[in-house]
Amino acid sequence: MTTTTPTGLGLRDSSLPNQITEIDQKTGQKTVKMGEMIFPPRKVWIKTFGCQMNYHDSERILSHLSDLNFSLTENEEEADMILFNTCAIRDLSNQKFYSQLGQVKHLKKSNPQLKVGVGGCVSQTEGKSLIKKYDHLDFAFGTDVIDTINDMVYRTYAGEKRFSINSWDRSQNFSIETKVTHGSPQAFVNIIKGCNKYCTYCIVPYTRGKERSRKKAEVVEDIRRLVEYQGIQEVTLLGQNVNSYGHDNGETLAELLMDLENINGLELIRYTTSHPYDVSDELVAVHGSSKKLSKHLHLPVQSGSDEVLKRMHREYSVEHYLGLLEKLRKAQPEIVLSTDIIVGFVGETDEEYQMTLDLLEKAQYDSIYSYVYSKREKTRAANMVDDISKEVKGERLRHLQKFQQGIQEKIRQGMLENSYRVLVEGFGNMGGVKKWKGRTNCNRLIHFLPENNDQDLQWNWVDLKVKSTTAFSCQGEIVKIYGKRMPR
Ligand code: SF4
Repeated sequence: MTTTTPTGLGLRDSSLPNQITEIDQKTGQKTVKMGEMIFPPRKVWIKTFGCQMNYHDSERILSHLSDLNFSLTENEEEADMILFNTCAIRDLSNQKFYSQLGQVKHLKKSNPQLKVGVGGCVSQTEGKSLIKKYDHLDFAFGTDVIDTINDMVYRTYAGEKRFSINSWDRSQNFSIETKVTHGSPQAFVNIIKGCNKYCTYCIVPYTRGKERSRKKAEVVEDIRRLVEYQGIQEVTLLGQNVNSYGHDNGETLAELLMDLENINGLELIRYTTSHPYDVSDELVAVHGSSKKLSKHLHLPVQSGSDEVLKRMHREYSVEHYLGLLEKLRKAQPEIVLSTDIIVGFVGETDEEYQMTLDLLEKAQYDSIYSYVYSKREKTRAANMVDDISKEVKGERLRHLQKFQQGIQEKIRQGMLENSYRVLVEGFGNMGGVKKWKGRTNCNRLIHFLPENNDQDLQWNWVDLKVKSTTAFSCQGEIVKIYGKRMPR
């Protein structure tokens, strides 16, 4: 059997040959030809750092690579190609990436055929210098060219030496089709890329470019197809500032959510990441009226001090933010809120830090992600005087996390003896005991014992009663198992 596969969505070098896939009728073995070059079955190992957008991009890359006969391996020793999808936001991710990239050198020594590529945010801004610095690196590519990954892989197997591509996709519309490679009923759907906000500490506008949204009709059709043909029941709409969705096309996130509500078989909709400035009253109202929108919202506040928020260029005040939480809780009394906090941003005084603790007390978040501020080159904050010592930042972070832990403990205790419906996501080993875990509609994790050790509950909908809690998770027991479709 022979099929021709058009490669890539969006950017592509049209001078490159199309792919032809041949499947041997006797052995079932797949071979892919691109021009004169043959791609036998090969294995790729992908290491992803950073946010959900990066994980989504890695899945997309893998989906393209499967057209070139690559399959995923968990074992880097057996890989024919190693890819890193990098994150430039956090210093820790950065350090881990550089250390792992260094370690790959010995793999290449023992297997000179091994190809090594680096993509993502670090590669967008530093691809050329990475290529210069690491002679075991074959290619580097930016965030806006991932849909041409197969062209890059072709070029590297065709013998092109060590290149970097970090151009921006300049086409008018942002148009893609979501690709899923897993068997789960959950999918990430990218609806807007880039960010126009320019928070002073953040590198994203420089690594992901200006905002561009997909058209609403395309997203709705894309998700309808995922539900109908790939068994997807839960989607998470992704964007760096997802609330800004549609501004460039005269559409809104609220309108998109209302349209998605009508897709039969789609059970749960989440979206991330939000910017408080762009949460409209229309969107707040949808949190009250929608039957499918998750009762959880992650709304990054970053600081409880107006002066710090100004230095961060966040475009809202603490009063505005707390007013927003009030409106959301009024529209949807069951809503669960979480946030991001940066501790020790440049010039943060003891009083400003205390204001963040006060805000945590008022907001009563279900969970937070908290970090100490670390300088990112090329951002505006990198030119501000960072005069807070590492010790003070560390001490403030530890104290803030302990403070929040007390809040969470009380919130979780309020869940005791209540029942929650979860979608089971997998199992783990807790103190030598196999326990399954599922996530509630409001994004809380509950661990539970199966009825017997052989029971396979992966991707089942299950009702659980919460029997004990800590600040971070709950333990529950099975009330009812519904199978793999959400019960009506
Ligand atoms: S809104 Fe988010 S992604 Fe955009 S600049 Fe600010 S922190 Fe970065």
